[in-house]
Amino acid sequence: MRKRIIAGNWKMYKMMDEAKSFVAEVKGRLPETELVEAVICPPSLFLAELVNQSEGTSLKIGAQTMHDAAEGAYTGEVSPNMLADLNVQYVILGHSERRQYFNETDESVNRKVLAAFANGLTPIVCVGESLEEREGGKTVERVALQVNKAFEGVSADQAKEAIIAYEPIWAIGTGKTATAEDANDVCKEIRHEIGKLYDKNTASAIRIQYGGSVKPANIGELLSMEHIDGALVGGASLEADSFVKMIEVAT
Ligand code: PEP
Repeated sequence: MRKRIIAGNWKMYKMMDEAKSFVAEVKGRLPETELVEAVICPPSLFLAELVNQSEGTSLKIGAQTMHDAAEGAYTGEVSPNMLADLNVQYVILGHSERRQYFNETDESVNRKVLAAFANGLTPIVCVGESLEEREGGKTVERVALQVNKAFEGVSADQAKEAIIAYEPIWAIGTGKTATAEDANDVCKEIRHEIGKLYDKNTASAIRIQYGGSVKPANIGELLSMEHIDGALVGGASLEADSFVKMIEVAT
């Protein structure tokens, strides 16, 4: 059985004090369970502090992005080995906001996925179609291409550990959620694509999240779907109470 994973993407929100209060509250309230992983991805400035604060608890910490190089003259960037050195465990890669505003491409996402594995980080690889692509019937084609590119050079053993987040761009931060059936259909296609790239075992091991306006009120229905193993949550992950509620529903 695949372990569920609920990850909060805080984007560029919160001050340090607010981040610390969130972790202080959440760590005492997370249900004791082996069935669900709870991950928070704060702005990179807060990573060291929140890793320390959550040590010894089930809350895990992830980054929202990283460069693929180990070091270099890349002003403003953080490297995979810097994250690993801080004991960060996850890294979101290829989020649609990174693709839209920071010129990330399928090729750079692939380089980052390889660098994440090389440094012992678990990538949360984001894929998803635009509204135009959905309306043009191109959803599966677009998402399959993103998956194929992102996993170039990744071994089956590594792919089994990866997380894919299916995030239709039109559902992110808009309050519009894909229906649970539509989300499940695309997640099923993603699993099928992984099966073609690797094998059946890899396809059934890889965990696929849905993301796009997930909140306590709709997470239960999404998680009841066969191919949805968790959620990548933006807005609703900013409040400790709603984050804990989502973990409780997932448990
Ligand atoms: C996201 O940032 O990945 C996301 C899905 O945001 P929201 O939940 O706010 O739609």
